[in-house]
Amino acid sequence: MLLVKNGRVVDPARNTDTSLDILLDGERIAEVAPGGKISASDGFEIFDASGLIVAPGFIDLHAHLREPGQESSETIETGTRAAARGGFTAVCCMPNTKPVNDSASVTRFILDRAKAAASVRVWPIGAASVGSKGEAIAEIAAMKQAGIVAVSDDGRPIATAKLARQVMDYCRSLDIPVIEHAEDVSLAAGAVMREGVTSTRLGLAGMPAAAESVCVARDVQLAELTGARVHIAHLSAKGSLEQVRSAKQRGLRVSCEVTPHHFTLIDEDVQYDSRYKMNPPLAAREDRDALLAGLADGTVDAIATDHAPHEPALKDVEFDRAPFGITGFETALSLALEQLVHSGRISLLRMVELFTSGPARVLGLECTIAPDQPADLTIFSIDRSWTFRVAESASKSRNSPFDGRSFQGGPVATVVGGRLLPQ
Ligand SMILES: [Zn+2]
Repeated sequence: MLLVKNGRVVDPARNTDTSLDILLDGERIAEVAPGGKISASDGFEIFDASGLIVAPGFIDLHAHLREPGQESSETIETGTRAAARGGFTAVCCMPNTKPVNDSASVTRFILDRAKAAASVRVWPIGAASVGSKGEAIAEIAAMKQAGIVAVSDDGRPIATAKLARQVMDYCRSLDIPVIEHAEDVSLAAGAVMREGVTSTRLGLAGMPAAAESVCVARDVQLAELTGARVHIAHLSAKGSLEQVRSAKQRGLRVSCEVTPHHFTLIDEDVQYDSRYKMNPPLAAREDRDALLAGLADGTVDAIATDHAPHEPALKDVEFDRAPFGITGFETALSLALEQLVHSGRISLLRMVELFTSGPARVLGLECTIAPDQPADLTIFSIDRSWTFRVAESASKSRNSPFDGRSFQGGPVATVVGGRLLPQ
């Protein structure tokens, strides 16, 4: 039994922001009561959360754990340790491993590895097409039976509208979301950052915002045609957000996520340094302003990290040759506090929603602090000063543009299945 006492409990699913004590009994929450009402019996472990926020466990809809196949960049063990440090209690891992998670046997391998080595819950996402090659639909029903929570060909879009329609039809009947890496590959071909003044100045090939929004338009129309749940991953462009907003107004089951780097940085911040290379690339100032508005007004459903570790040997090369992606677990909450809460743009309750009930809703799950719910909690500070040092990261990789950045507030403790994890 673990008693978390004296914390300020922020639970968006119940619209709660008040002082409560929480008693955890193994995998489940046993009791939630006003401060001091639960008396500690012998043998209770006690966590004093005075001065801290206690939230439902954070869910990351979008991460790359690199296992199987790219263990020199990350493993399920190291990736989930970094996730736990970042305050996440569950991470959805994208299928672009080697081999691709396009069959029940790979899904089972990931879940077995997670059972043996993971610090937090691992929820695999299956490929939409065989090998994510965009030709034939993958064994989605078998993978669902094995434990996937969604499908995606992340790293690339579902190749054709015809295949995307087929995948959506199939996933609608299975009641799982289709997560789309929205990109028109013909518009993005050869590009390494967003097209604009900065790409010209750096002499780097750029892609326009339309490389994303053209594909979002396709997918919103297919969501309408099929009635499927369609979730736009790492949405970065104003035009894409406007389409999601209007799709929601029309009652379509379309949702989206935004990454901390896209609401923090813009293309003007890009330096000739591969830690600023990700896909979709850092966008224009007007895009970032639109994302901030969407995070505030409810159009954006979730903050997701797109944690994409690459070992130094891969990433420490010329900008053009480096792979896309940056690590994200350990800085996500602090960036959200900095950019969204301390800046006065959104309430703490809304920020917590973007990490908890928001992503849970995309997956058709609940995420709240109540008796019988899973005993997963994220405990964090909103004022403690700290500095992120990539050399001290729990991830195997070091590719973060936020190395050396100082923050106000961040994760303090993560509880998964009633167990307090070492930070
Ligand atoms: Zn992607």
